Amino acid sequence: MRDFLVAGNWKMNGNNAANAELVAGIIAGVPGGGGFSLLVCPPFPYVGAVSAQAEGSPLKVGAQNVSEHEKGAYTGEVAPAMLRDVGCEYVIVGHSERRALYGESSEQVAAKFVAAQDAGIIPILCIGETLEEREAGTTEAVVDAQLDAVLDAAGIAAFANAVIAYEPVWAIGTGMTATPEQAQDVHAHIRARLAGESEAIAGDVQILYGGSMKGENAAGLLAQPDIDGGLIGGASLKADDFLAIAQAAASLR
Ligand code: PEP
Repeated sequence: MRDFLVAGNWKMNGNNAANAELVAGIIAGVPGGGGFSLLVCPPFPYVGAVSAQAEGSPLKVGAQNVSEHEKGAYTGEVAPAMLRDVGCEYVIVGHSERRALYGESSEQVAAKFVAAQDAGIIPILCIGETLEEREAGTTEAVVDAQLDAVLDAAGIAAFANAVIAYEPVWAIGTGMTATPEQAQDVHAHIRARLAGESEAIAGDVQILYGGSMKGENAAGLLAQPDIDGGLIGGASLKADDFLAIAQAAASLR
């Protein structure tokens, strides 16, 4: 059985004082038992401080974005090795907000995925369709294309050390959650596609669901056979809300 990963994407929220309180609250309330991990992804300036605070606790720390370049004249960018240097274990790549608002292509996302892994950071690859794409019946084609860009750049072996987050764009920050069945269908499709390349890797890779996950809907989603955790935006900003999802995960393991 795969472990759950419950990951918080804080987006562009927080400050030193609020982050310290949030992290202390999460650490104090981590459910007992095993079979799950908790991760928070603060904005860049706070990754180091949150890592330092989380050290020695079960809470892991990641970032929300990374440069595809190793170093050099890329003003404003943050290199994978810099993230590693400040205690970052994971990085989100290809979040739909980066794709839509900053024009990141699937090829660029794939380059970020590879650069993160080269620096020893586990990429969390976000894929998912818009409402128009779902209504046009192209959900599977959209996620296939997003996956294929990474498979072409990195090969199936790279998924032995990566996480996938299926995030239907229409469910992100909207309060419209995919039903457990809708999410499971796409998760099963993603796993089957990877299984076409390697059954072993497909069987082990964690596929998270993201899109308005909260305490009230987490158990139904996490009970699905191919849903291995959540990537959580809004409900990761309050310790009690985030811990309610962690609790749902813990109770299923
Ligand atoms: C996200 O930002 O990845 C996300 C899923 O946000 P929310 O939980 O707020 O929908």
